[in-house]
Amino acid sequence: RERDLSSSGVVTTSTGNRSVRVRIAVETPQHSGVGEPLDYLCERPLAIGTLVRVPLGRREVTGVVWPGEPAPTDATFELRAVTAVLEALPPLAPAWCGLVDFTAAYYQRGRGEVALAVLPPELRKLDDSQIANRVRKLRSRLASAPPATAEPVLPTLTAEQQGALEDFARIGDGADPATVLLYGVTGSGKTEVYLRAAADALAAGRQALVLVPEINLTPQLEARFAERFAGRRIVSLHSALTPAQRLQNWLAAHLGVADLVLGTRLAVFASLPRLGLIVVDEEHDPSYKQQEGARYSARDLAVYRGRQERVPVILGSATPSLESWQRANGGHYTRLSLVDRVGGAVLPAVRLIDMSRQPRAGSGNGGLAPPLVAAIQDRVARGEQSLVFLNRRGYAPVLHCTECGWKSDCPHCSAWRVFHKIDRTLRCHHCGATERVPRACPDCGNLDIAPIGRGTERLEEQLGALLQVDGAAPVRIARIDADSTRRKGELEARLGAVHAGDVDVLVGTQMITKGHDFRRITLVAAVNPDTSLFSSDFRAPERLFSVLMQAAGRAGRDAAQARRSEMWVQTWHPQHPLYRALAAHDFDAFATSQLEERRMAGLPPYAHLALLRADAKTPEAARGFLAAAAEQASDLEGAEHVTVYPPVPTSVARVADVERMQMLVESTSRIALQRFLARWLPSLHELRRTRSSADERVIRWAVDVDPLLI
Ligand code: ADP
Ligand code: ZN
Ligand code: ZN
Repeated sequence: RERDLSSSGVVTTSTGNRSVRVRIAVETPQHSGVGEPLDYLCERPLAIGTLVRVPLGRREVTGVVWPGEPAPTDATFELRAVTAVLEALPPLAPAWCGLVDFTAAYYQRGRGEVALAVLPPELRKLDDSQIANRVRKLRSRLASAPPATAEPVLPTLTAEQQGALEDFARIGDGADPATVLLYGVTGSGKTEVYLRAAADALAAGRQALVLVPEINLTPQLEARFAERFAGRRIVSLHSALTPAQRLQNWLAAHLGVADLVLGTRLAVFASLPRLGLIVVDEEHDPSYKQQEGARYSARDLAVYRGRQERVPVILGSATPSLESWQRANGGHYTRLSLVDRVGGAVLPAVRLIDMSRQPRAGSGNGGLAPPLVAAIQDRVARGEQSLVFLNRRGYAPVLHCTECGWKSDCPHCSAWRVFHKIDRTLRCHHCGATERVPRACPDCGNLDIAPIGRGTERLEEQLGALLQVDGAAPVRIARIDADSTRRKGELEARLGAVHAGDVDVLVGTQMITKGHDFRRITLVAAVNPDTSLFSSDFRAPERLFSVLMQAAGRAGRDAAQARRSEMWVQTWHPQHPLYRALAAHDFDAFATSQLEERRMAGLPPYAHLALLRADAKTPEAARGFLAAAAEQASDLEGAEHVTVYPPVPTSVARVADVERMQMLVESTSRIALQRFLARWLPSLHELRRTRSSADERVIRWAVDVDPLLI
């Protein structure tokens, strides 16, 4: 036997029969608990990162040649042979494999599972000649590059932007490029900083990766980058692309044809041979956390990737996550601040409306304070726009029988079905169960069943009725939420109408509070934010504060109108410290007090958490599994460094007839927690199998490391 460890990263061991053993990451079924790369035979050595087709059970699957040595030979075990080598595709870089290794180890999943899950699904379907075809097409497009075009007109940087960029250049120069927290209020011109940093990376022949939280923000940002980098190739990567587009864009990045990749969380895994900069816009946004499979945080992986590949990372936000804020406080990240809005615009004045002093809901005002309605009317009359934000879609969250008390609960979930007036349905937002609204109460036959509460659909209707002034032109209201924008192109059309000034009032969910550079909005209102004030999730205040700051940030972005811009908040708790800090636009004060609370309570970022979740037919089965898992945990090495809390139902305990329980695992040491999980979780696959009867068994279990929703 001889070993070959060549500089190209080829790691193989040849055996007597002229075949070499290669280690291949394949997607093994999750319940098998294997997850590690498997050994195969090949006629010749293969470079790390090469894609291959191999037999797995009775199927043939795509795999990736993985770093590390094949396992020692076991003569009794016959290895299977690689069926095909996808040579048309240049191998993935060892650094890419390293990112996958880290993700798998940190989030406790199989490497093969992660590797295959983050590659474009299309790659698994194509054979070598089909891939060769696509590679050839892309390369020929590169050869016929667009004519090198007129220089874009660059805005003169503000002094703050200039300062931030100078600091960034200085920090980025060292051997260890830094992670930078770009803390800039809404409208302070963070995007311009990203553009300049990206321009420098491109000028140095490198690629830039720009992550955004929402798919609906990619077209807008893509347009801004495309305008600035005419003649450069920009591709997007997100889940709304067709499989063919996604493959093409991924290939463009992998082949180095694309200079700039703009995408949502999955783009953090883009293969970028010339990576020179990573930007994470709105780094605090919860959608950077994947909520199924490997539950990774793309923000955290971006930081890891930057360190590994010695590439600077910019995390940008007006309301940074408390994790990032604390790291900046501790000097691990470099904080660069933009405290003023561009062009002399100011942040909107915040008005907290004490709802206990307003006429009660139901008295014809639809739960909207009369002064707020009047303020919106003024805007309409002046030709300015207003944005009304309510984080609940549908017409009303529940229907109710005034006679017997029946409520429209979902038969499959511990949740109500939401009333959607537009198609007269009751829809469960958890399991999707949809039914036509009954004519009468299903329990007592009473015809008088009424909606309780309000979603965006009803808010739109109420605003229409309240705002209309006799004799005036009809008030133009646009609603943007997941329902109104389901059809392709609808979101763009509605946003376009807002930008064009064809809308007086924009009503919507969180979709409208993020990122958009609206120029005519002078009033933003949050009509029912209190609901998340007293949530059991310790991160709820952080999320609420950031959503409200972001929403406020949509007003007064044009300096000419900024001074009369307002953010209205309808609340029953106007004295709450969160609203006080909001009124003062004081993120620092809010973060300081939240961090102090977290420190006292031993919560992140001062402690590290993992959630073990179990789904079963009965709550007893789910609880029983978690309790047995906890029992196993107590005997393990390192158990003294972690605390395992008792199992509790999740916030929506039953979804689609499945009972869901979770158990919190906590440690003050990230490493101790990670090591402990690695020792503990493999045995849970076995535990699941050994639970005696089918009724006692869990349907599935999963671990969520650094969970965001608790
Ligand atoms: P943020 O991302 O911080 O919310 P943006 O980058 O969207 O802010 O900038 C807000 C607005 O200011 C945008 O319309 C942008 O084009 C404009 N802008 C940014 N920097 C400058 C500058 N230096 N000079 C003029 N306008 C600028
Ligand atoms: Zn009834
Ligand atoms: Zn349901």
